Amino acid sequence: MKNESIWELPICSTPKLETDLDVDILIIGGGMAGMNTAYHLRGSKEKIVLIDRDTTSYGVTKNTTGKLTFLQEGIYPQIEDARGKEDAKEYFYSQKDAVRLAKNIILSNHIDCDLLELDSYLFASVDTKELKKEKKFLNHVNEKYQTHEKLPIPFPCVEAISVSGTYTFHPLKYLRALKEIILKSGITIYDHTKAIAIDKEDDGYLVHTNGGDIKAKKVVVATHYPFFVLPALLPLSLKLDKSYLLAANKEEEDVFTAVSTDAPYYTFRVDQNHFIFGGYSHNLATKLNYKQNHDEMMNYFKDHFQKDILCFWSTHDMTSKDHLPMIGALNEENPNLYIATAFHKWGMTNGILAGKVIADLILEKENKYAKLLKPDRLLTPKSLLNKIGDNGMIDMTYINTKINKEKDFYKNITFEECDGLPTATYTDETGVKHTVINRCPHLKCSLIFNELDKTWDCPCHGSRFTLDGELMQGPSVYDITFKKDR
Ligand SMILES: Cc1cc2nc3c(=O)[nH]c(=O)nc-3n(C[C@H](O)[C@H](O)[C@H](O)COP(=O)(O)OP(=O)(O)OC[C@H]3O[C@@H](n4cnc5c(N)ncnc54)[C@H](O)[C@@H]3O)c2cc1C
Repeated sequence: MKNESIWELPICSTPKLETDLDVDILIIGGGMAGMNTAYHLRGSKEKIVLIDRDTTSYGVTKNTTGKLTFLQEGIYPQIEDARGKEDAKEYFYSQKDAVRLAKNIILSNHIDCDLLELDSYLFASVDTKELKKEKKFLNHVNEKYQTHEKLPIPFPCVEAISVSGTYTFHPLKYLRALKEIILKSGITIYDHTKAIAIDKEDDGYLVHTNGGDIKAKKVVVATHYPFFVLPALLPLSLKLDKSYLLAANKEEEDVFTAVSTDAPYYTFRVDQNHFIFGGYSHNLATKLNYKQNHDEMMNYFKDHFQKDILCFWSTHDMTSKDHLPMIGALNEENPNLYIATAFHKWGMTNGILAGKVIADLILEKENKYAKLLKPDRLLTPKSLLNKIGDNGMIDMTYINTKINKEKDFYKNITFEECDGLPTATYTDETGVKHTVINRCPHLKCSLIFNELDKTWDCPCHGSRFTLDGELMQGPSVYDITFKKDR
């Protein structure tokens, strides 16, 4: 059984940047959000460059379940609670439009990405309280849905609803095709080019990368978790949720996708090719024993299904304090610095939507969702309470992981101060020692050892590093490698 996502696909790699550049628009990050932004900007007269730290498409998008749906884990009542009915309605329409937009892009460009129209289910496995709220909301927006007593496959369910006009697709096949279209349009893509810092200048920004400095009039940061801390102190505005997934052999005739509304959270994608099961989401800063959480999910699956598991993986996504994505210009002081983040585990629709919204803003076109999603929107009292609660939890984890090194997730680890630095050494099963600096370069959080993936993970902001300290995932832009006598 492999510890990797089911979405593996070779994607043509483009050269690394090896010089300084002067461009009109720089897009940083080639995942769902960045690639869709480049797609919508193609054909404009501006000089546009996209850079990605890795090969495009190999970020969080590689770990998705790839559903294109507007029935999203009971999100509308949550937005209604945080921001009111009108904003919840607007978000609902934005997601319906995003599904339509995705379909249009795929069909009009003849993209072969296994697009399949499938009903989406939302179900309560124990408690119908949240499902009732979702039904009330759907009635309010006149969206038709069907009610069911059970799911198409045997699984604990007390009530379910389903909608049609939703899809599944292969996210990497989609992004692979987009890359070809973008390159053909004249936009240059540099893979293996990491943005390290961004400085504001009189007429734009100077972005420092590992291959050269890029001067740009406008910059789009589509790196999942924005890599800069200032301006805007984004870490105070984002909360991370981690989830566990597996893919198994598929036998059912029924094809559908589903997510649950109660805890623990379950997600299914059953289509012509895949049976993907997962969920068990938790705030990244809590339940730090990731192996234990993964084992719980695997055991639950084995108790309910007689299927061979092909592979498993885990991943995380961000949420804002009011559950709406943050898409658009960062703030009034930075009208030419755009971000696309906080997709709340719905970054297929929201990444596609982000591309259109940001391109429209850059090209000075009207976009009806720009106001709703603007990153510096005012927080409501309810969202402020969420902010205080979430940040309090992150602060507790920050302190706890600094002082408490006896927990399960530090098995086989020794800690010592070396050359004035806090180091951690993991001894692997062959006796080889792997030493890293146990301090995240992003905001100096202590890292915990992820026994499941054998990685060093930041429980506060999600940066991840290999056993020997190489950066795997931001917001950090630096490694934590340790060399004696440095
Ligand atoms: C369990 C789970 C299931 C999900 N299932 C669904 C689903 O079914 N449907 C749905 O709509 N959404 C789903 N999502 C959400 C979705 O997968 C994500 O929101 C989405 O993939 C995020 O896309 P992105 O472009 O923001 O980020 P990424 O795909 O991570 O793209 C960011 C890119 O930026 C690059 N990068 C990062 N830092 C730098 C840097 N410093 N310099 C240069 N490049 C950099 C990375 O290499 C990467 O290629 C799910 C999420 C989870 C956690």
